[in-house]
Amino acid sequence: MSEQILPAIQRTKSAIEEYPDKNWVIAYSGGKDSTATLKVFLAAFQKAERKPLRISLIYCDTGVENPVIDSYVKRTLKNIRREAEDAKVPLSVDILSAPVQDRFFAKVVGRGYPTPTNSFRWCTKALRINPVTKYMRSFGSDDTIVVLGSRRDESQQRKRSIQKNGDDYWQKQGGSSATIYLPILDFSISDVWDAVFCLGTPTSIDAREIEGIYRDASGECPVLKSPNSPPCGSGRFGCWTCTVVRKDHSATKMVDAGYSELQPFLEFRNWLAEVRNDEKRRWPVRRNGVERPGPFSIAAREEILMGLFHLERTTGTEILADGELEHIFMLWERDYDIEHELGLRPKTCPISQRRRIQSQRTKSMPILISA
Ligand code: SF4
Repeated sequence: MSEQILPAIQRTKSAIEEYPDKNWVIAYSGGKDSTATLKVFLAAFQKAERKPLRISLIYCDTGVENPVIDSYVKRTLKNIRREAEDAKVPLSVDILSAPVQDRFFAKVVGRGYPTPTNSFRWCTKALRINPVTKYMRSFGSDDTIVVLGSRRDESQQRKRSIQKNGDDYWQKQGGSSATIYLPILDFSISDVWDAVFCLGTPTSIDAREIEGIYRDASGECPVLKSPNSPPCGSGRFGCWTCTVVRKDHSATKMVDAGYSELQPFLEFRNWLAEVRNDEKRRWPVRRNGVERPGPFSIAAREEILMGLFHLERTTGTEILADGELEHIFMLWERDYDIEHELGLRPKTCPISQRRRIQSQRTKSMPILISA
């Protein structure tokens, strides 16, 4: 076993013993780093003489997670929850998500946001950081220690961000009052894989399955960090809709490796990346009146929505959440008059448009499974 693992367990054991009264929250994405972190933490927990009464394992479900990863993670979390109950470990498993108004397609199709880029990265805060922050506030951020799988070795950007925040296992980050603990801060990739394969608990995690899914990728989209800091690395896993990276290498590699079910998602994502810069699909002004390409026109939003219905139909997955379509219509209604004033549309009857669109979705829906 790598030389880094035992000291990391020992250090984490001391940390747990020092703060048994805190709420320990472990951020889990299913990736190798958060898996290694969880395993190191649980190994330390088993050895600790003073144990916390509560540990939380949280997964942030943006609603547009890579479907292969999302299904692996949700299955694994179910098994971890059962394993913890059987072993009487006080571990709660919580899946967090953004409210309907903050979901990816509520913003893109509803408000007309262009899909995110480095300079307009509206998604991380809305989809990941806010749900996690809200969750921590529910039991007092000051009493919480968040355990993250960040490593210096991960990327130059991550290294700089860690250095900026004290370059230590203990950090304060992202304006949150919660303390952050980084048990695998100085792990290399091979230390991470060693921890994933060699540490036994939780047994519900299938190291071979992670290796199969994650072999070619690195980096995970942050859940606790300034949203203005550098984005996920080019080989990251995260949302299948992500246009922050120019090309989605990880999804492409997964398709090449046989996950053909990702192909329609990848094609739709590539189309989104293409149309986001098409000025004909955007308002000529921004909402603040500045004469630069603004939100997607309602016609473009409808076009994206139709593409989304088609994707739901071809993949048999439900991408829009309960209430999301109604929320989108409500947002469109607010924008009809603006478009009319901009000379982009005659007065139309939103009700008939809504009926037509709703019937498109109803007609197109097969038996759906959640994405
Ligand atoms: S993976 Fe991409 S789209 Fe998703 S939150 Fe991170 S930066 Fe935004």
